[in-house]
Amino acid sequence: MAESSKDYFVTTVTEDHDITCWGCGLRLLLPSYAPVFKCGWCGAITNQNVNKPENKWLWGRRLRDRCFVIVLFVFILFVICGGVWAVYPIVFSISYMLGIVNSILTVILAATTVSTFCLSAFRCAGTPPTVLWGSYPDVGKGDLENYTFCHYCSKPKSPRAHHCRSCGTCVLDMDHHCPFIGNCVGASNHRHFIAFLFTAVSSTIYVSIMSTYAALHIWPPVNFTSIRHWNGFNSHIATQAFKEIILAFANSAVQLSARGLILVYLFISSVSLQIGLSVLLWQQLSYIYEGKTYLGHLSSQGSGGDHIEEKDCQNILRFFGCSYSISRYFPSLRNSHKKHTK
Ligand SMILES: [Zn+2]
Ligand SMILES: [Zn+2]
Ligand SMILES: [Zn+2]
Repeated sequence: MAESSKDYFVTTVTEDHDITCWGCGLRLLLPSYAPVFKCGWCGAITNQNVNKPENKWLWGRRLRDRCFVIVLFVFILFVICGGVWAVYPIVFSISYMLGIVNSILTVILAATTVSTFCLSAFRCAGTPPTVLWGSYPDVGKGDLENYTFCHYCSKPKSPRAHHCRSCGTCVLDMDHHCPFIGNCVGASNHRHFIAFLFTAVSSTIYVSIMSTYAALHIWPPVNFTSIRHWNGFNSHIATQAFKEIILAFANSAVQLSARGLILVYLFISSVSLQIGLSVLLWQQLSYIYEGKTYLGHLSSQGSGGDHIEEKDCQNILRFFGCSYSISRYFPSLRNSHKKHTK
């Protein structure tokens, strides 16, 4: 009985499943067919199920990204120039000092928004480190631990990298591909992207406040003809009053000048953008607080969340590169950091 099982084992090994590891080039003998296996020497993972994919529609995705970036850049310039044209004459006519303060604020917000946008859009998102691969003497034991092979780039992909099909390259610590900046958000530009969201939210808040302030000074008088004659309160009167208010505002809005219309447009667009960008910023900060990226969050959901990261303010400080300087002044933060790295 023991001999027959030994025969069975030997036959299986010698018959088939003689496979070469892509990482170190060594030939491996597997006891049975395994579509995914890890090399015992270099640690590289080979997936035999993956066919060499075609990078279809890469030019289409790139064209879409370029268009989005141009549209967003033109919109930012329009808000800056339109805002200056519509708000400044009104603000300077009210108070010269107020005009100077607003000029300084506008220059600071415009410069930071445009520079952080350019940094996140045009900076490389994160290049994975170059490693030696392919031949046994050069690749040491465990050199390619958990590396996989990217069939799009035809080179090793580190466990921290993802391949982006829109950028056509592997990106280190990829968070997501953002079509509005036409770039991936990864290890090299994640901080710039967060800074862009923060400055964009601050700028939209400023634009909405200033456009409201300026519009109130040039809004034509609103005439409520019959409301003042109504006595008492019931649902019919409330409906009538509501209709009258809407009608009165619509009538006065018709008399608005071009400057007034631009102010209304600036207010509506800045408030809508403010809501969208605030939600995105909050979502990004909560992922950083949890110590993961958006893609990491999706994969932890898919795998049932077996890899649980520590939720800690230290994650946010570490992300912005100031964990050491802050922990010097707050010993409690240093203790919590030690606890997590243990
Ligand atoms: Zn290997
Ligand atoms: Zn790749
Ligand atoms: Zn990308």
